[in-house]
Amino acid sequence: MENFRFHVTTDIRFGKNRLDELPEALGAFGKRVLLVYGGGSIKKNGLYDEVTSRLKEASFEVFDLSGVEPNPRVETVQRGIDSCRENKVEVILAVGGGSTIDCSKAIAAGFYSEKTPWDLVLERKGYKGPALPIITILTLAATGSEMNAGAVISNMHTNQKLGMGGPSMLPKVSFLDPENTFTVPKIQTAAGSADILSHLFENYFDLTPGTDVQDGIAEGLMKSVIKNCPIALQTPDDYDARANLMWASSLALNGLTGSGKNGAWSCHAMEHELSAFYDITHGIGLAILTPRWMLHVLNEETAPKFARFANEVWGITETVPELAARMAIQKTYDFFQSCGIPMTLPEVGITDDSKFEEMAKQAVAHSVISTKAFVPLHEEDVVAIYQASMKKSNFL
Ligand code: NAP
Ligand code: FE
Repeated sequence: MENFRFHVTTDIRFGKNRLDELPEALGAFGKRVLLVYGGGSIKKNGLYDEVTSRLKEASFEVFDLSGVEPNPRVETVQRGIDSCRENKVEVILAVGGGSTIDCSKAIAAGFYSEKTPWDLVLERKGYKGPALPIITILTLAATGSEMNAGAVISNMHTNQKLGMGGPSMLPKVSFLDPENTFTVPKIQTAAGSADILSHLFENYFDLTPGTDVQDGIAEGLMKSVIKNCPIALQTPDDYDARANLMWASSLALNGLTGSGKNGAWSCHAMEHELSAFYDITHGIGLAILTPRWMLHVLNEETAPKFARFANEVWGITETVPELAARMAIQKTYDFFQSCGIPMTLPEVGITDDSKFEEMAKQAVAHSVISTKAFVPLHEEDVVAIYQASMKKSNFL
């Protein structure tokens, strides 16, 4: 196991009917609030009214920033920074999924910086400066952004989608009420579950020895998602299914399963290019790429880890590692498909391979996948994985 620091101080308020705690949580930081949200789902399901009425009652001054896009844009970050400066905002309240929370984080850091928001994004994970305090009300189980210090921001002019972050961007308090996810559409429930699984896979499939704690926790979380996603798809208001997905979202990417390991995040690096060039849903892109990536990196050295995954997560009893591995990859593919995820690139509108080389070049340039990985990936590997994602696959 590698050395690590685990210092995750987000105050989690998990469960139903806890918004009476919101004024106290926000009030610790100030009375002038930037309320950040997406395209309107919180207006449709009543959460917006509930939040704003509580804040008005407690005499907060609330300034709205609406319209945060899935794959949040750097221009929206700039709009948020301008509003914070103009209105002397003291605390940011993000109500939504990962996109809303990520956008809020970039606003929070950008508020204090002389640099343009995109220059801050280009600092990647190295942001050391201050940030406005952030409180979140999560509405979609997926990214873990509610309990980590990272954000992913897109620049559609340069076709770049990049991760950034720093300790000051960690949310101070996150309200996790599973009932707020009852209205998440089926496809977003499936995409969010695929994202959670991918966060677990990215750290799990790694060659760092001696990480039984991290890997055992990851296997338990994977099984929880595999069990509860189909229940939530079938019965969207099943509280416990939504609760398990929500808590799995936070624990999959708060450092619990990644600290002490060397995950290179290969599928995320490749997916960010799909989203940057074609603006597709993050979790869908991951679900499509993941089984193809697994097969591409399956070799004698990696087979034992895949065989452990087959046995522990899928209950496969096959003892020949390579066979067990292929069965587990097939199960993973079939699971995503059974959740209603389109499993080829043409089904999400990527019908030709003309940009694959450029995307592969960027995926390698913007990440460590070619140097530090379970199996290092070079441009030709990334192109091969994109190509394999163009048609239906069989892994057996
Ligand atoms: P999202 O982009 O925040 O939201 C996806 C869609 O779901 C939106 O259309 C949103 O509608 C809708 N939605 C959210 N909650 C809803 C609800 N309760 N009821 C109905 N509709 C709802 O999705 P996400 O998967 O959470 O975030 C994806 C972004 O996070 C990507 O940019 C991805 O790269 C990034 N990401 C970040 C991290 C991290 O650690 N920071 C990790 C992985 C991925 P409205 O807009 O109308 O609300
Ligand atoms: Fe992700």
